[in-house]
Amino acid sequence: MSWDFDYSAVNSISNLLEENGLNMTRKFGQNFLVSRASLEKIVSLSGACAGMKVWEVGPGIGALTSLLLKSGARVTAFEIDRGFCRILREKAFADELENGQLKLIEGDALKTWLPEFEENGAPDVICANLPYNVGSVLIGSFIEHRCLPPLMVYTLQSEVVHRICAKPGDEDYSGFSVVTSLDYENREAFVLKAGNFWPAPNVDSSVVEMRRKEQSVIEQADAQNFFNTVHALFAQRRKTVKNNLKALKLSSQTIDGALERAGIPATERAENLSVSQIARLSKELI
Ligand code: SAM
Repeated sequence: MSWDFDYSAVNSISNLLEENGLNMTRKFGQNFLVSRASLEKIVSLSGACAGMKVWEVGPGIGALTSLLLKSGARVTAFEIDRGFCRILREKAFADELENGQLKLIEGDALKTWLPEFEENGAPDVICANLPYNVGSVLIGSFIEHRCLPPLMVYTLQSEVVHRICAKPGDEDYSGFSVVTSLDYENREAFVLKAGNFWPAPNVDSSVVEMRRKEQSVIEQADAQNFFNTVHALFAQRRKTVKNNLKALKLSSQTIDGALERAGIPATERAENLSVSQIARLSKELI
């Protein structure tokens, strides 16, 4: 790789942006990770190595991308900022794009990832410092569309990571915790203080490691029904499971019967239910 750029030097980054007539945009959650040690730790967690197929969402000007490429991994990167894409294409990774080690998909990853998945399948790993505004929507979308790589390593606001790792009864437990723990064992690997980013965000971040379970709690065919049940159950936090389930437009009798067969009291609240209890309930509701 001929591009030897110091991604930890804020001066060099701002000069590069200025030379290219670019600015950082808050609306795209642009906070570059400028700690070399943290970038290396993230890539090491991802296990990226020669030949491995890795997706990265939001490469920016390539801080994480350059290390992923150095590992020998084949990287597909999704970036919305046309100016950053120009830097990646013309300056940083022209050779890797030419020889096919890197594929750059320009545009909104929320729209571009699915066609890539349908054409080429899931990667071995997704490794990304996610734009905060789309992070949880994107992860939820991967899982609900059953794009389930063996490992995902994300940098996100610590608050979102706590929701991903929360267990039933925890304050942070939500519908998102259920969706993200259906197929994955999740662990907060380490915290990144705001000062590790440029510009520094208002909140701290964490790196979460999501490792796929050997067996999913549900059958592929039951997935959509499961997600519909989760969304209904957590729609209104203070309501009982029975009241929330009414949104599914099923008869009261059907709901009562399903709750009874799943062994869940009608007055229970979704925040106390485990993934397997919800999976059982969703099957009983069919
Ligand atoms: N990977 C770089 C790093 O670690 O320093 C940049 C990470 S920065 C937090 C998020 C990146 O995601 C930015 O480059 C931003 O332009 C990009 N981005 C934001 N929204 C996006 C979207 N919807 N689709 C694709 N990329 C997006």
